[in-house]
Amino acid sequence: MKDQPSSPSQPDAPAPARLPAGSRHPWHALSPDKVLTELGSTAEGLTDEEARERLARHGPNVLERAKRDGPLTLLWRQVNSPFIWVLIASAVLAVIMGKVTDGLVVAAVVVLNTLIGFVQEYRAGKAIESLSRMVPETATVIRAGRKLRVPAAQGVPGDVMELAPGDKVPADMRLLSARNLSVEEAALTGESVPAQKAVAPVPEEAELGDRASLLFGGTLVTSGSAQAVVVATGQATELGRISTLLREATDLQTPLTQALAVIGKYITVGILLISVALLGVGLVRGYALSEAVVVAITLAVAAIPEGLPAIVTIALAIGVQRMAARRAVIRKLPAVETLGSTTVICSDKTGTLTRNEMTVQALWTSAGTYALSGVGYTPKGELTRDGQRVETPPQDVQALLLAGALCNDAALQHRDGQWEMTGDPTEAALLVAAEKAGMSMEAVREAHPRLDAIPFESENQFMATLHAAGNAGHRILLKGAPEVVLRRCGGEEDHVTSSSVLAEVEQMARRGMRVLAVAYREVSSAHTALRMEDVESGLRLLGLQGMIDPPREEAKAAVRACHEAGITVKMITGDHPATAVAIGAQLGLLQPDEEGVTGAKLAATDDAALEAVAHRSNVFARVAPEHKLRLVRALQRQQHVVAMTGDGVNDAPALKQANIGVAMGITGTAVAKDAADIVLTDDNFASIVAAVEEGRRVYDNLIKSLAFVLPTNLGLALILLFGVSLFPIQDVGGRLVPLMAMLPTQLLWINLVATVSLALPLAFEAREPDVMRRAPRAPGAPVLSHFVVMRTGLVALLMAAGAIGLFWWEYHRDLTGSGHTQALAEAQTMAVNTVISFQMFYLFMCRSLMGSVRKVGLFSNRSVFVGMGLLVLLQVAFMYLPFMQRVFGTAPLGLKDVGLSILMGAVVLPVVGLEKWLRQRKKDSDTPSRRGAARLGERVPA
Ligand code: ATP
Repeated sequence: MKDQPSSPSQPDAPAPARLPAGSRHPWHALSPDKVLTELGSTAEGLTDEEARERLARHGPNVLERAKRDGPLTLLWRQVNSPFIWVLIASAVLAVIMGKVTDGLVVAAVVVLNTLIGFVQEYRAGKAIESLSRMVPETATVIRAGRKLRVPAAQGVPGDVMELAPGDKVPADMRLLSARNLSVEEAALTGESVPAQKAVAPVPEEAELGDRASLLFGGTLVTSGSAQAVVVATGQATELGRISTLLREATDLQTPLTQALAVIGKYITVGILLISVALLGVGLVRGYALSEAVVVAITLAVAAIPEGLPAIVTIALAIGVQRMAARRAVIRKLPAVETLGSTTVICSDKTGTLTRNEMTVQALWTSAGTYALSGVGYTPKGELTRDGQRVETPPQDVQALLLAGALCNDAALQHRDGQWEMTGDPTEAALLVAAEKAGMSMEAVREAHPRLDAIPFESENQFMATLHAAGNAGHRILLKGAPEVVLRRCGGEEDHVTSSSVLAEVEQMARRGMRVLAVAYREVSSAHTALRMEDVESGLRLLGLQGMIDPPREEAKAAVRACHEAGITVKMITGDHPATAVAIGAQLGLLQPDEEGVTGAKLAATDDAALEAVAHRSNVFARVAPEHKLRLVRALQRQQHVVAMTGDGVNDAPALKQANIGVAMGITGTAVAKDAADIVLTDDNFASIVAAVEEGRRVYDNLIKSLAFVLPTNLGLALILLFGVSLFPIQDVGGRLVPLMAMLPTQLLWINLVATVSLALPLAFEAREPDVMRRAPRAPGAPVLSHFVVMRTGLVALLMAAGAIGLFWWEYHRDLTGSGHTQALAEAQTMAVNTVISFQMFYLFMCRSLMGSVRKVGLFSNRSVFVGMGLLVLLQVAFMYLPFMQRVFGTAPLGLKDVGLSILMGAVVLPVVGLEKWLRQRKKDSDTPSRRGAARLGERVPA
């Protein structure tokens, strides 16, 4: 067998280890048969063994990933922040002013902070990068005549593959057959208008964009279907060769990090101004210049929240990981935050809100109505009419079941006594129905070989097949949405019948059933291909099949949870309005007296009126993808933050437009996944709600971190300001120096070591029990909310007053016993201890924003205790180790003093406790009923 194509450039070359790079060989100019021969393949595909061997030879079908930002770039990103520049400037200035130790400590802190940020960002980037591997890409290949779904990475040259709308083309391929195929090649050519593709060879010199008989890896099938043979994989593909290496989505910027960066800049500028003012105060009071400069630097160092950026990155990365564990894979990081402010979720019905386990339960033909018992994909169940078992189905019923089973791409397999289905569950249900009536699928398919087909597409709402019917000529079978099928049946004279059939459809649909109508038409045996015109008219109705698809239990609970959380759930389905309304009622998302809105009505409604319609209804039926886009826009115009699900090619615009585009991981097309912000690995509505819950938690935890970090910075600044402005002036050897409640190095100790080790654990905080009983956060609400600002002021004042008070008391008490230097060192150590004690107690108050820590569970977050334990050890070293005493200018404190500083810190408990209680009382009195309001689509104030 010849499996190397003869490359014109190297006619006599020995078999190379790899096939010559894809389209340099003129595959596009050769006939399909020639291509198959050259690749050593056949229309039946390769054998499994051949495929394995080629995989070993050519390597996996993957493109090399772009290297992530190098360590230097990452390091530079840490350094290049206003916080750090101020610190570096301070260090340099301190050294120039002769304060070398202070300068070195500041420099050490910069290095430490940069390293922490570097390590955290590196880990966060890695975690996010690994997500891209959680949504595997697959391909449909034909190996030894069998159709298989394999990971796209296992594709090899010579593999015959099938492509359907929405697929990402897994490698460079030569078409073998194609129907209405168009492909969007933007990934390769930048051209977003889909290109038409066809089997016919094109001239050898055709440009890449004109090689209509070739498909290129990485491009997207927008419509039609095809079979093609792989000619190049991995780096040998055109995409691999132009080497626009795939970039991983590791950008850690989100609106929140950007908002925080802006806040950071303001804080920095504000602090610099205050520092300058402080320098002025110092000089006016007559301090030596170098002392006044050091005080100003100290303020900058103390008040800038250096640890904040690392905390934000970590909180986001943890959120992403938790969402993935709950089956929502984030593709674009900002979605983590946006999820928390979602106000409307528009969800598909089939498979997302329902189980997608279709079972035919009702049959209708002009001769009567029948019931089929049994649930799911098993042959257990029987046919009854008026409660009486029907042993042999009458001919009209047999014809209906037979047509449903033939106009069908699904398959059922017996495996270990169980049935497994592959393909579309709607179609599998038709197969099961036929089996229940005693038909054998294999025999049926053999007796009526298929000659051609028009596959099902949501837009058309039908599928048609052409079969050989022995001597009787050929037969076209059509199945699909009843309105669509009936329109094509009979002539004018059938009008009355058609309305009575529609009444029958309505009755089945009201029971929550999906109804398919089945029809046929005889044609001559000269008819060997199926065209759209062939199914336009003249068909004869065989009957109806009604199937149930029960709602998922977890979806019912998730809809309830959404309503509690002030989120409106809207169902958008391609199904019949009566079916949609029945399922909507079972899920509890209907508004009172709602009848559902159809796509036709949406199409007839102008944009202005659409807003009211979108607001009033929660059920939209027979909706086409373009309606989804208009609905998203109408909701967004009403200030809603919209999450929208989708799976098909044509859903992509709506997914992109929505604030959160949600694609289905199992049934979704590559196009939909590409357009989405998150991908559900289980296609389950409940996973969207889980992601919203995690999104809210991430945001809560960021606010908790802010509410924890900022008071310390403000408190330290107040301590300094107070001391420099009001403490008596010291005369040390003829130089006037300020009496400082803390040394610069001690302030840094608090600001970086203590604050970061206590604040980081807040990123791991469990979600608050009421996280889904609050209204969605208003988008664009300031991060520094009234709550954060007030809390910062309150705690900072308390902390500063406590530290200054104990400093003063300790200083004066010691002055009588020991010298000035010793007294000052002890008093300063006391002040540091007091602030840290405040922080430890305040940390517990921050673990729940509004309620007591018991709400989230005292021991629910172990990292808090790790952080505290670590800090206690460090603080003991800080006070009692001689080395630390030298660097930080501390002195050992007696047990009584330590106890006193702990007691002082505990003051924060009753004070913040009271503040929370007052806030909660106010909130309870303003909260309207959220559940009813959400179902009606009313916005509840956050
Ligand atoms: P949802 O939007 O809730 O997920 P859906 O996507 O399953 O619903 P479509 O697949 O667009 O909805 O189906 C629309 C209609 O087309 C169905 O109500 C049914 O009447 C018809 N239909 C669905 N599947 C097939 C099929 N395989 N063959 C023929 N007709 C079908």
